[in-house]
Amino acid sequence: MVRSTAGEWGKLSACHICGGRCYWADSRQCWGCARCYHPPCLQQAVVELGPFHCPTCRGEFEAAGAEDITLDLRVMHTVVHGQPPAHANPDERRRCEKVARWFRWDGASLWLLGAEVDRRVVPICARAAIVARAAQELGFPGGDRLYLLLK
Ligand SMILES: [Zn+2]
Ligand SMILES: [Zn+2]
Repeated sequence: MVRSTAGEWGKLSACHICGGRCYWADSRQCWGCARCYHPPCLQQAVVELGPFHCPTCRGEFEAAGAEDITLDLRVMHTVVHGQPPAHANPDERRRCEKVARWFRWDGASLWLLGAEVDRRVVPICARAAIVARAAQELGFPGGDRLYLLLK
């Protein structure tokens, strides 16, 4: 699945809602579409630390039934804060703790812990670009198969 993205990962654009200028200190970039947002413009009092997905992307992913660990807010909460959200029930807490053990959040990047090296988890919006570039270099069309090879 190659998504068209609205921005470039790692580059700030204007806030998608108010059109105002974004700075790293006061904005979040969506891991799904690379659009930038001021948290107050999203009318979210608290935007979770960790991978951020805008409401549009969250809705699309959920509708598509897509699974991505970075969209699992409870697990991400556990990775970032070291403990599951307070409202999680015991089963959820166990699940979160189990999965979160494999990840580390350094304040900007998510890492998948490996036996020898840790691997940076690439935001969804950047994955499409990586697949497209690899397809060009390898000289065959991309798609799900190529994505699997790159995983
Ligand atoms: Zn704004
Ligand atoms: Zn988005």
